Amino acid sequence: MSGNNFKTLDDIGEITSRRVLVRVDLNVPMADGVVTDDTRLRALIPTVTELADKGAKVLLLAHFGRPKGEPRPAFSLEQVVPALARILGREVTFLPDSAGQIMAEKTLKLPNGSICVLENTRFHPGEESNDSALVEQMAKLGDIYVNDAFSAAHRAHASTVGLAHALPCYAGRSMERELTALDKALGNPEHPVAAVVGGAKVSSKLDVLQQMVEKVDHLIIGGGMANTFLAARGVNVGKSLCEHELADTANDILAAADRADCTVHLPYDVVVAKEFRANPPTRTVNVHEVADDEMILDIGPAAVEALSDVLKTCKTLVWNGPLGAFETPPFDSATVALARTAAALTKEGQLLSVAGGGDTVAALNHAGVADDFSFVSTAGGAFLEWMEGKPLPGVEALNQK
Ligand code: AMP
Repeated sequence: MSGNNFKTLDDIGEITSRRVLVRVDLNVPMADGVVTDDTRLRALIPTVTELADKGAKVLLLAHFGRPKGEPRPAFSLEQVVPALARILGREVTFLPDSAGQIMAEKTLKLPNGSICVLENTRFHPGEESNDSALVEQMAKLGDIYVNDAFSAAHRAHASTVGLAHALPCYAGRSMERELTALDKALGNPEHPVAAVVGGAKVSSKLDVLQQMVEKVDHLIIGGGMANTFLAARGVNVGKSLCEHELADTANDILAAADRADCTVHLPYDVVVAKEFRANPPTRTVNVHEVADDEMILDIGPAAVEALSDVLKTCKTLVWNGPLGAFETPPFDSATVALARTAAALTKEGQLLSVAGGGDTVAALNHAGVADDFSFVSTAGGAFLEWMEGKPLPGVEALNQK
């Protein structure tokens, strides 16, 4: 990550009656026209209320689903307006497009301090291709651009990158908070640093693993991907989820960790079952005692205790992915126990803990500790690309000015 040298709302100056285009994340889950999880809506409160209170005309720009570049009513952002108005406790209006002269004239007539949602940016084919003609038409609607959507920062789209070049640009409060936390966790962390990388497959997190061995002092590998590493080391993992074909890759990662002085922690005890369902008969065994007809579905209590001891020696923790099949009891035990240790160390002020990725947020919520981590990112793809060490175009665009 390329250091943070973006401007924030502290630098924005006088904005009474100015039209501020704010890129936010309104891509909320919905069922029967009702928002089922409003986390992303709550994230935009600080920026939106601050700008509105300063007398700006706040215009919210976002995508919603995948309408494939054409106006499709099922993907209209109008349906998010009631939930947003309720969460903000303010009136929120709607404009049926996010670009063009007609909308530009309407934005000029909005009252100072008002909040307005613009229609789904992905109704325009030029959004995802960052088309310069679309950027020009979008830029007509605003005088200033604020990006408050870290979760969309891994995409170089018109509303994330194009506008940052077309208008004076600033990071919103949520974006600022997220980038500051991420920088503390991996950009300029206090050592020793531990990373927990769990989840189903090595193949989906190869770049993350390669980046982590270079950056952290302790790499804790859990979940299905630990099985691939164990198998690569000659352990019989029975019927476990395992990518046997990635044995060489796993061994290369272990060798790279050795060279980089990164200690890799693989479980030495595991919880196994013959069937993958809730509460089947289980055994807790040494990794060398897995039978041919058993599956590893969680790491064991001795491993968790050892990992807790590792965390106690660390100053910084980055966590992505569960240690076991946490959605199915009792295979949530290790994830819950280690998450609680991390949360307790964070509360005591001994650990800076940052976690992210869809399943990880669900796992920490399940453990009841999401609020006790220093920072939990709800961005899925952007968080993983950040862990992979990739530059995020939306952030780079803010930094360039
Ligand atoms: P990911 O999306 O890569 O973070 O993977 C998360 C998924 O990995 C969750 O749905 C877990 O249930 C699953 N998982 C974790 N550990 C295991 C395991 N030992 N065997 C099978 N699935 C697992």
